[in-house]
Amino acid sequence: MGDHKEQDNYKIVFNEGNVQRDINRVLVTGGCGFIGSHLTERLLREGNDVIVVDNCFSGNKSNISQHFGNPRFEFIRHDVTEPLLVEVDQIYHLACPASPVFYQNNGIKTIKTSMLGTLNMLGLAKRTGAVMLMASTSEIYGDPDVHPQTESYWGNVNPIGIRSCYDEGKRIAETLCFEYYRQNRTKIRVARIFNTYGPRMLENDGRVISNFIVQALRKKPLTVYGDGSQTRSFCYVDDCVDGLIRLMNSSDPGPMNIGNPVEYTILQLAETIQKMVNPTSKVTFKPLPSDDPRKRKPDISKARKILNWDPTISLEAGLKLTIADFRSRIE
Ligand code: NAD
Ligand code: UDP
Ligand code: UDP
Repeated sequence: MGDHKEQDNYKIVFNEGNVQRDINRVLVTGGCGFIGSHLTERLLREGNDVIVVDNCFSGNKSNISQHFGNPRFEFIRHDVTEPLLVEVDQIYHLACPASPVFYQNNGIKTIKTSMLGTLNMLGLAKRTGAVMLMASTSEIYGDPDVHPQTESYWGNVNPIGIRSCYDEGKRIAETLCFEYYRQNRTKIRVARIFNTYGPRMLENDGRVISNFIVQALRKKPLTVYGDGSQTRSFCYVDDCVDGLIRLMNSSDPGPMNIGNPVEYTILQLAETIQKMVNPTSKVTFKPLPSDDPRKRKPDISKARKILNWDPTISLEAGLKLTIADFRSRIE
């Protein structure tokens, strides 16, 4: 009897579940960048505490400076390839340069950012019990043989080309997410984001929409690479952010395509921007960079069904807002 009592006294009962907070604490890596800064704005508007972590390589502190002084907001200049200790409930892991001009500037660093950065964020999610959403990309489909691209397609990626540091980096990041999910039950959400555009893209970003708008505003010829017959499908940033938030708050690990399924040739895009900004601007043809995918268009049936999500902003409406933003910065 006495022995039993003694054992009961030492019986340990652990608490169930994670720490509960009144206000959701959200980490946004890459929050000084284009998509991350829009996401941060919306998360703050919806009453969350937001911590932005960014090394300001391809993003700018000015993208988030409007939140300085907001007690719900915090900025940490930090490189995600190094470990990070913060206590959070959700992680939107966006830190990684996204434009070929930036990610090819130091390909080895791009690989480290995707691999080590994602490993650290998964370690953080494992320790804290946070949900970790990884911003993957349509680039993991490479130059696709399946059109439009569904999540079940494994892709056609050159492992040793000039885009590989980004494409393969994101592929290993996805693999890491799913190993943490299987081995550690880490809560993951993998979003495969397709070409996204909108206000706050950098003037020297190098991506097609910012290049064309800046060129048209500066009365310079629009640089079409190749013959302009390659296609892309462009999603306005608010639609993308909405998709990411829905995915985070779903219970689906993904992968989930987040993109606008309306497809344009690059030449059609050039003509559209020409008409909207400066009908007298010319088009000039430049060599097509190596491994440039010939076509790209998301199949978003999965996001429609599981997230009840569909882009709502047409290319013309989105371009109008984007052009106005560039105009205010350039003219
Ligand atoms: P962006 O370059 O504007 O933003 C990325 C941010 O990450 C920048 O602020 C940059 O300084 C930061 N960053 C880069 N390396 C870092 C590091 N090692 N440590 C900390 N911060 C670092 O790009 P974006 O267009 O906003 O893209 C955001 C995310 O979405 C990226 O992961 C990108 O791969 C993904 N994505 C974007 C698109 C798109 O069309 N914009 C498409 C597919 C996927
Ligand atoms: N990590 C981190 N923040 C944390 C917990 C982990 O940055 O709060 C990093 C950690 O330094 C390691 C990575 O995440 O490099 C993976 O962590 P995990 O615990 O899964 O692996 P281990 O440290 O056991 O190798
Ligand atoms: N592109 C172009 N002119 C430019 C910049 C890009 O014709 O000034 C083309 C590029 O070759 C690609 C498409 O536009 O076929 C989209 O390029 P971006 O770099 O924006 O995105 P990604 O290739 O990563 O999808």
